Amino acid sequence: MPRIAIIGGGISGLSAAFTLEEKRQSGAQSGTTSDSKIDYVLFEAAPRLGGVMVTDRIKEDGCLMEAGPDSFLTEKPWAADLCRKIGLGDQLIGSNDADRKTYIVVKNKLVVMPDGLMFMVPTKILPTVLSPLFSLRTKMRMAAEWFHPPHKAEADETVAQMVERHYGSEMVDLLADPLLSGVYGGEATDLSVRAVLPRFADMESKHGSLGRAMLAARKKMATATKAPPRPLFTSLKEGMQQMVDALVARLDPATLRTSTPVQSLIPQNNGWTVSAGYQPAEKTPDHFDAVIVAAPARAAAAVLESADANLAAELAAINYSSSVTVTLGYDEKVRRSLPPGFGFLVPRSAGRRMLAATFVHNKFPHRAPENRAIVRCFLGGARDEQILDSTEDQILTIVRNELRDIIALDAQPLFTRVYKWRAAMAQYSVGHLERLQRIEALRTRLPGLALAGNGFNGIGVPDCVRSGTEAANKILSGMGMSSVK
Ligand SMILES: Cc1cc2nc3c(=O)[nH]c(=O)nc-3n(C[C@H](O)[C@H](O)[C@H](O)COP(=O)(O)OP(=O)(O)OC[C@H]3O[C@@H](n4cnc5c(N)ncnc54)[C@H](O)[C@@H]3O)c2cc1C
Repeated sequence: MPRIAIIGGGISGLSAAFTLEEKRQSGAQSGTTSDSKIDYVLFEAAPRLGGVMVTDRIKEDGCLMEAGPDSFLTEKPWAADLCRKIGLGDQLIGSNDADRKTYIVVKNKLVVMPDGLMFMVPTKILPTVLSPLFSLRTKMRMAAEWFHPPHKAEADETVAQMVERHYGSEMVDLLADPLLSGVYGGEATDLSVRAVLPRFADMESKHGSLGRAMLAARKKMATATKAPPRPLFTSLKEGMQQMVDALVARLDPATLRTSTPVQSLIPQNNGWTVSAGYQPAEKTPDHFDAVIVAAPARAAAAVLESADANLAAELAAINYSSSVTVTLGYDEKVRRSLPPGFGFLVPRSAGRRMLAATFVHNKFPHRAPENRAIVRCFLGGARDEQILDSTEDQILTIVRNELRDIIALDAQPLFTRVYKWRAAMAQYSVGHLERLQRIEALRTRLPGLALAGNGFNGIGVPDCVRSGTEAANKILSGMGMSSVK
């Protein structure tokens, strides 16, 4: 009976386990004995499964708080598809886009992002021209950008370099950097345009102007589909944890080993020897035919060190940034006083430690009763790793001072939560795609090894679901079995 080990029980590892479970069950139903006899074991270092996907609830208040991801991009189908498969189709909810307004902090004031901006690319002339967000110089750059000639960059470059070439440095400071801090906890001056914004690189080489290319893509989409626009973000009624719980409920509990960190993976006897556990007595090596490593790249590097030092070095070179999320709950009076919209982004030039804040009660209204407001703030990222060393009280003081300065919010919160995520957000630096090619070449020299997780081809939840599913299918096809759709 083929045995497969999965290392890491975040959404990537759980997606891989679910794919193997589906294979096992489809084999049992169709009577294909070889499929139904797949055996898998999931090793998770922490006492709980789900990795950074954690939802908290203040029961007496009816408020729901996300410690990690709060939703996923609707445009990327893999997470919602998985939710439907595990019986959560009717639990999917969209963001309240009627109220989708985002602000940028400029001189301690909120300035609304103009209508028609598609991930920092202006596509509507009038709102951009009238917006107080940009200087006249940047507006003139935006007009000139329309005539940008097609350009195929010889080598990878940073997002900042590309955006600056098109729109100038103010655009990097006001939009590119804060938007990337929000998604990657990273910096525009470090992140690779080819890895992080592949569409931009493609549009530039074909059309030249990003503005013209975005507009053309939007028109094409509008004529191709007559369906009403979908919400930008999708989530679950009971929070992201609902997805974790539903996945875990579909797996055999006997296959799930929590509080069991894998120490090493060694290729041996046409398979892999897995050593796991905290105590020496627990570390009895176990033999598997294949392994799926779905832990963050640095942890993957550590467990694969003895298998291939070069592969481990490439994995270890994928940087991660840390993140802190702070949730504050307020009463009805505060809710009435807060601005409409989803929240605000804080550019580096504002000199603050907060990177962004979400008005949760507006973005996902059912997460707070009408007499409550929830403000969720983000700190840390590549430029402020030190925040992880601050105490919760110190972090709360920083957040409350900055909320007072930026949105005049001085009220005492009814409840607060601080969540620290050390080295959780992969940073796709310049050259990331070339590194992935080297990793893939080294991986194929180790039969029965697959890699998944947010260190590779996408950091968002849908990308992680896809990476776990693909890793499991890769292992199945390596064993001569058909993959799971
Ligand atoms: C604060 C925050 C907000 C985010 N917001 C969003 C969002 O709104 N939308 C979105 O799409 N994405 C968001 N993301 C990104 C997304 O949530 C993550 O990229 C994704 O959940 C990562 O899943 P994963 O399984 O790859 O990794 P993780 O969740 O990090 O799981 C990896 C698991 O591996 C385990 N592990 C490590 N080493 C070992 C070992 N040696 N042995 C066994 N187990 C091990 C860890 O304990 C962990 O449980 C956010 C991330 C963070 C941190």
